Amino acid sequence: MGDAEWDVIVIGAGPGGGTAALHCARKGLKTLILEEHKEVGVPVHCGECLSEVAVQNLDLELPEEVISLHVKGIRVLFPNNVEKKLTEPGYVLEKHLFENWLIDEAVKEGAVFQSSHKVRGMQKIFELENQFSSWKITGKGDLFPLTSKIIIDASGVAGVSSKILKNSSNIEVIAGYQYEMVEVENDGYLDFYIWPKYAPEGYVWMIPKKDSRANVGLVTTMKKDKIKSLDSFIKDTYLKDNQIVDPPWRKKGIKVKPFGGTIPISGPRNNTIDDGLIMIGDAAGFTSPLFEGGSHLAMKSGKFAAQVAKDAIAKNRYSMFELKKYEIMWKNEFPPYHKILKGKKALYNLTDKEIAFMASCMPDEMNGMSTITKLGVGMKILVKNPSLLRKSVISVLLSFGYSRAKFYGW
Ligand SMILES: Cc1cc2nc3c(=O)[nH]c(=O)nc-3n(C[C@H](O)[C@H](O)[C@H](O)COP(=O)(O)OP(=O)(O)OC[C@H]3O[C@@H](n4cnc5c(N)ncnc54)[C@H](O)[C@@H]3O)c2cc1C
Repeated sequence: MGDAEWDVIVIGAGPGGGTAALHCARKGLKTLILEEHKEVGVPVHCGECLSEVAVQNLDLELPEEVISLHVKGIRVLFPNNVEKKLTEPGYVLEKHLFENWLIDEAVKEGAVFQSSHKVRGMQKIFELENQFSSWKITGKGDLFPLTSKIIIDASGVAGVSSKILKNSSNIEVIAGYQYEMVEVENDGYLDFYIWPKYAPEGYVWMIPKKDSRANVGLVTTMKKDKIKSLDSFIKDTYLKDNQIVDPPWRKKGIKVKPFGGTIPISGPRNNTIDDGLIMIGDAAGFTSPLFEGGSHLAMKSGKFAAQVAKDAIAKNRYSMFELKKYEIMWKNEFPPYHKILKGKKALYNLTDKEIAFMASCMPDEMNGMSTITKLGVGMKILVKNPSLLRKSVISVLLSFGYSRAKFYGW
């Protein structure tokens, strides 16, 4: 069926697209990756953390040059100087180098990469009446128009296929920005500040990198003055004397400024497949709701998409019905989005004092809490501040648990 030029066209060369293309190529599929930018991975729109669990789960053998720093885990800082650790090892990456490496690996396996190609149109081609055959893809770039049996939409928060086809509900997003700072001391932990004063309904981070560099940024639902708020955080803390510089991937001579982007926060889209179409990563709405990590989810969904594409092409049938398996795979694997979201909403309903009290009831090390410890935390809250239970504080604790690496938190 179909005389499409490509088995799979992957839209976007982020971590999701790179992984999907790598696995499609490994499975012998004729794979093309299209990226709208001239270069892969820039501008960086990520805090650049990836857990060791993710690296193992994805069978990645990271080359040293893509690793900026080996880290011990996350330290969560709550109001009133309450600090708790979630110790689980991982990496801060040089994310643009990591994304380039992924694409190079995909190309080594036989995929073709094309930069400066922006997808703008998608049209279904039918062979017989109502029998989906392939996609015709149009856009800005010399290679267009192109045809493919399957499209993997890895276009990130842009969600290009959903926009063009209007086949999925809109998603809500949150904005995140960061500076690169220098001479920032670290003890190997990523610092996440739940300090609503600076980042209402979000958090501030200090993510250490090699040579005492650090990403210092925030996500917040604040509509205005986000950067002012980040500047105030820096001015009010130990970071006040540290210099802000441009990251190494930015061209020299450009005014120093923050970098970042938006992150989906309304959860997986109601449709993540269509005839010959699979959405992955941010394009599908996959991000961990509390700390907004999305690379692990993007790459795992890319791997699932490659598996499903391979099976569909082997059967020469790629209607939506044939791709249904993809939705079953990610629903079985990814953590319960709504439970984490419920906890996140409950957290942002607490006052600073309540957050600090709740945190003070947790053990200093939050990783690997036994059932007895969890019950102990619940009992402490029940005895000392029972009103907090009505504010769903237990779901807040659950959402911290689900933000660990093994639940795709990072
Ligand atoms: C400030 C910030 C900090 C973050 N920190 C972390 C973190 O520390 N750890 C973590 O795991 N996650 C983090 N995230 C989230 C993470 O960056 C994303 O979840 C992840 O990059 C999603 O990968 P993806 O491959 O789905 O999409 P993306 O990485 O967004 O890649 C999409 C690609 O598609 C291309 N594209 C878009 N439209 C088109 C088109 N029409 N045609 C061709 N190409 C197109 C884009 O140029 C881009 O290269 C952060 C996000 C932000 C904004």
